[in-house]
Amino acid sequence: MSQEIPQSDRVASSAERLGTPLHRLPGVGPVRGNMLQRLGLNFARDILFFFPRDYRDMSVLQPIEALQDNRPASVCGTVAEVDLRNTGVGRTLLGVLIRQGDHYLRAVWFNQPYMRDRFKVAGRVMLSGTPKVKGGRWEMTHPRVEILGADDEPPAGKIVPVYSLTDGINQGQMRRLVHKVVDEHLESLEEVLPPELLERLQLLGIHDALRQIHRPERRTLLDAARHRLIYQELLVMQLALAQRRRRARHGRRAPRLEATAKIDSRIKRLFPFQLTTAQQQAIEEIRADMDRDVPMNRLLQGDVGSGKTVVAEYALLLAVAHGKQATIMAPTEVLARQHARTLGHNLRESRVRIALLTGTLKAAERSDVLAAIAAGDVDLIVGTHAVLQERVQFKDLGLVVIDEQHKFGVKQRMALRQAGLQPHYLVMTATPIPRSVTMSLYGDLDVSTLDEAPPGRQTVHTYLSSEAERDRWWEFFRKKLREGRQGYVITPLVDESSTTELTSVTEAYEQLANGQLEAFRLDFVHGRQTPDEKERAMRAFRDGETQVLVATSVVEVGVDVPNATLMTIEDGERFGLAQLHQLRGRISRGVHPGFLCVFATPASEEAQQRLEAFCQTTDGFELAQLDFQMRGPGDLFGAQQHGLPPLRIADLNRDAEVLAQARSEAFQLIEQDPELAAPGYERLQRMVRIRYGEALDLGDVG
Ligand code: ADP
Ligand code: MG
Repeated sequence: MSQEIPQSDRVASSAERLGTPLHRLPGVGPVRGNMLQRLGLNFARDILFFFPRDYRDMSVLQPIEALQDNRPASVCGTVAEVDLRNTGVGRTLLGVLIRQGDHYLRAVWFNQPYMRDRFKVAGRVMLSGTPKVKGGRWEMTHPRVEILGADDEPPAGKIVPVYSLTDGINQGQMRRLVHKVVDEHLESLEEVLPPELLERLQLLGIHDALRQIHRPERRTLLDAARHRLIYQELLVMQLALAQRRRRARHGRRAPRLEATAKIDSRIKRLFPFQLTTAQQQAIEEIRADMDRDVPMNRLLQGDVGSGKTVVAEYALLLAVAHGKQATIMAPTEVLARQHARTLGHNLRESRVRIALLTGTLKAAERSDVLAAIAAGDVDLIVGTHAVLQERVQFKDLGLVVIDEQHKFGVKQRMALRQAGLQPHYLVMTATPIPRSVTMSLYGDLDVSTLDEAPPGRQTVHTYLSSEAERDRWWEFFRKKLREGRQGYVITPLVDESSTTELTSVTEAYEQLANGQLEAFRLDFVHGRQTPDEKERAMRAFRDGETQVLVATSVVEVGVDVPNATLMTIEDGERFGLAQLHQLRGRISRGVHPGFLCVFATPASEEAQQRLEAFCQTTDGFELAQLDFQMRGPGDLFGAQQHGLPPLRIADLNRDAEVLAQARSEAFQLIEQDPELAAPGYERLQRMVRIRYGEALDLGDVG
């Protein structure tokens, strides 16, 4: 349930009443008004959309004399006695005696001393639990407690909402306040969804939905209410994405770049291998997109090593074949250089002019390259995200490929624009993303998926090992090195300046070079080296001069050395699941099976689970789903990261199905009525603007 604090829904109603400041409501006043403000609650309408974070099913109320052994019940009474005792070191027993006329019931809590503060002698309470006869008296262990005011109706037999609270306000007070607002203000709220939609999709009206959310009569009604509100939230999001997608196409013109049979075969001749079916398919989709005079907006998704580069290369060369410039941006300098090298190699016989544009160019070189780009003297520009996001003046840019783009939000993706004709866009990510996230994070893009590895790809055997097995692992590692393979040793930190005892690259390098791997050629690479040092180390490794590369996660992204099939990861608990998977991708690239050993001392249950999951499957999509479930969408989906407003009630993981329905509905609606101008849809359109207008730049059509 959403713990998000709703902003005021200005769309909700023009009615003044909903804008009543909370401190002006009877029984609130300035002091409590301030407390509510801490929860983001300012106006009556905020309360309506302050969804409970949980619910409790309360048992039916019973008089104490009618209780039955072991049969759950709620009991209402006054507190007669509160007694907290120490029963051992750090152990306590709290007993609370409840009186109802001549009858008594004792409630007990073990090791929850803080519960004592909830009870006041002579106060009214309701307890829900399982009564048992103990020593001739009724007793409940750890019952649920509802503190009641003098006139409160005990919420027995009901589903009781539980709200997020702040100091100075308890559940009972919050519920009373919400009830009051629901009773007095709900009717002023206007329905956002058109009647036609409500009927067709069989959704509860907003009044019923909010009433049931706050005061559920039955489970079924509560479920219907939640469904309605979740659906609405996801529908609004998808409408925004659909509108954005539509505008990205219709507001803009791009050059039509047809892949004629001749161009097609000329490009494919350059590839040193047969394309996989998945690669063919993705290329077909890209061909179709680039053959249109609106910009392509496509996400190419594929697990590490699935062969995205060659698909990108096809698109780049297609643009170049039409005399356009094309650019590919990578997140790191190492990867940018690798792309420049691969392209240079494949194109060595052609006249295509390639330029590398990264942060380490000397000022003079840099201005030469920039001038050549502006003059149209280069065709292919390979660079880092950072550099290419700055203002680079292109002569005639036809295509932008963004590699390893899983960290950027919707906004940043569109950073490269030019006057006149717009380039086509291809975004590539190797962090497999659960479908529900793709639908939102990248919801305005078309998606191609490489769901097949190139032929002959071997699996990576992954082990989670203890210190005791270290010697055996290194023995195995050496054996494989002698067979001609290469390997990585990955450590999380750069130097020993850190106060923790984590293995650092240089330390690990020294140790191995003078110990377990003494007989082999070792080198190291880490983030604090200059790009030239890094490049030298990478090149020596690629060319087989070094057999073992000790590295931090600089090698994480995209690095391609097929002969490297061994990897040791130290302090594995320090890496996230996606990162581990990326690292493993470094050794599944050739025709030999990979072997990965993770040494870790997981400090938490979660870390342990993550590492076990990692060892169990090499399927990136499966891991992404697991990661998503374990961490929740929060991390993957942090607000700054993707730039979309947080969801209040929907959960992308739990509600994936509703999301898919809302998406298809939204895209159809926008197809038929791009601006939602049909009668009955005005409020919905306004809601889309208010919630997503800024995040998705919907105001800016150009
Ligand atoms: P990623 O999708 O992770 O970017 P790459 O494009 O770097 O993967 O490709 C991984 C490796 O697979 C590279 O060495 C590449 O040359 C090779 N490769 C890609 N496609 C094929 C194919 N169809 N047949 C054989 N090898 C391929
Ligand atoms: Mg790649």
